[in-house]
Amino acid sequence: MIRVTCSLTERQIETELRKIFFPPKGRLKCIHCGLFKIRSVPKESRYHCPRCRKKFSLLSGTWLGNIKIPLTTLMILLWAWINEYSIEHSMDLTKLSHVTIRRYFRLFRLNVVESVEFKPQDAVQVDEAYFGSFKKQSNMYHGFRKYRLAPKVCVAGISCPSVGQLAMRVIEGKPGVPIKEFIREKVPENITVYSDGSHIYTNLRSTHRHISQTHDQGFHNSAYIEGCWSWTKRKLFRQYHHFSHKYAAEYVRELEWRFNTRKEKKNPLSYLRKLN
Ligand SMILES: [Zn+2]
Repeated sequence: MIRVTCSLTERQIETELRKIFFPPKGRLKCIHCGLFKIRSVPKESRYHCPRCRKKFSLLSGTWLGNIKIPLTTLMILLWAWINEYSIEHSMDLTKLSHVTIRRYFRLFRLNVVESVEFKPQDAVQVDEAYFGSFKKQSNMYHGFRKYRLAPKVCVAGISCPSVGQLAMRVIEGKPGVPIKEFIREKVPENITVYSDGSHIYTNLRSTHRHISQTHDQGFHNSAYIEGCWSWTKRKLFRQYHHFSHKYAAEYVRELEWRFNTRKEKKNPLSYLRKLN
C-alpha cells in the first residue's frame, strides 16, 4: 500500500496559508474591522477581536472557511486533485469517504480553476464532441434489457496548434448558432479556421476552410483538435469515471484549464498562492 504524508506540519501549513490570505507579511488582522491587535483564544485555534468582540479563525471568510478536515489532509487532497488522482485512489490516500472527496474536489474546481485567456495565432481548428457515459452493450453478459442513457453533452472546441491552447464550451440545444457565436467571440477575423465538412460550419466567414477543401493537408489540419479530444476525455474518465449533465460546464472549464496549464509545475501551495 502506498502511504502519502504531507511534508509540512499543521503549523507550517498554517504559516503558509497566513502569508497567502494576509499579504504581504502574513500578519493577522480582524476580518471584520481590520484591527491588528487581536488576541488568540486560549485552548482554541481561534482569535478574538477586542474592538468588535467577535471570534474568528485563520481561514474564516476565505473559500477554505468551512473545511472540516486537518490542513495536512487538505494538502494531500489538493495534491491528489492537481495530479489527477481518481476519487477511489484519493480515498485510499486520505481515508475520507467518497462523498467527502467529491465535495472537496468540487470546492477546488470552483475556486482553484482559473480562466486562461485564449490567444490564437496563425490558424485554429474547430470541432464538436459529445461527452457522456459509454454506451453499454446489450448482450448475454450485460443483459438484454435496453439501457436508458442520459443524453450526451455537446462540447464545442477551438484549438490552436501554434500556441498549444484549447477553448471549450458546453453547447445547449441545437449546436449551429451557439457554436458560430462561440467561434466569433474567441477567434479574430484574420485567423484561418479549419473545420470538418459538417453543416454547422457553413457560411461561417471568409477565413474559413473545410478540411475537405485542402486535400493534401486535410489530416494535418484536424489532427490537433482530435488529439485535444482524446486528451480531455482520457483525463475526465480516468479521474471522475462519469460526467453529469448538471455539472457539465464546471467539468469542461476544469478540463480547459488543465489543458492550458498542463506544462506548469504541480505544487499545491503555488496553486494557492496564485489565487491571491
Ligand atoms: Zn474587529
